[in-house]
Amino acid sequence: MRHITTHNAPATGLRSIGDTSWHTHGVCHGMDPEDADAVFFPLPRDHEAIAEAKELCGLCPVRRDCLNYALENVLKEGVWGGLTEAERRPWHDGLPQRLDYRRVIAFFNGRDVHLTEAERQLVIDHAYVQGWRPDRLAAALQISHKHARDLLRQAANKVFDRDRTYGVPRPKKTRKKAAPTTGAPAPAKPGTRQPVSRPVASASAHAPLGKAA
Ligand code: SF4
Repeated sequence: MRHITTHNAPATGLRSIGDTSWHTHGVCHGMDPEDADAVFFPLPRDHEAIAEAKELCGLCPVRRDCLNYALENVLKEGVWGGLTEAERRPWHDGLPQRLDYRRVIAFFNGRDVHLTEAERQLVIDHAYVQGWRPDRLAAALQISHKHARDLLRQAANKVFDRDRTYGVPRPKKTRKKAAPTTGAPAPAKPGTRQPVSRPVASASAHAPLGKAA
């Protein structure tokens, strides 16, 4: 998922989608492609090449960016950030659940950052709590209006189920009170005739006279 970076969005120190500029600072940058392939994409039991790759990565200033790039782009082969395929597997498997609040905050600040499934869900929950309309969520997540509406409904159902489980009382709906009627006629608009109201005859005026009268 992506969000368009705005020019006035504050810098976060996070890498944007498609940003591979970090690679120019890598120790392996500029290596002969064939040598790089042999070292960083070794056969599973080529311990010599693996050791060499780890040694180079150990000196690399962009090791973390390199590892993140491999995780976010689901690059499961080769050595990235000093970790082999087998060593990265748990990271790949757990990536959808990674929740980095820095990324979520950067997203709300308009930065173009990768969000994991867990981070994306946090954005949706926040949108629901803040009363976002589907249009706004659709624009933020770059999804259709219908999809955004469904996601907000799911968030609403989740909150409803949670409240029911924990016995949280639902907020009472407040009805607008009708304005009290005073019986006084509304002031007439200039130039209009106001209907003449007849005086209401009192009940005693029509009451049958008693024997005493
Ligand atoms: S961490 Fe290793 S593979 Fe990644 S850029 Fe650095 S040297 Fe190259």
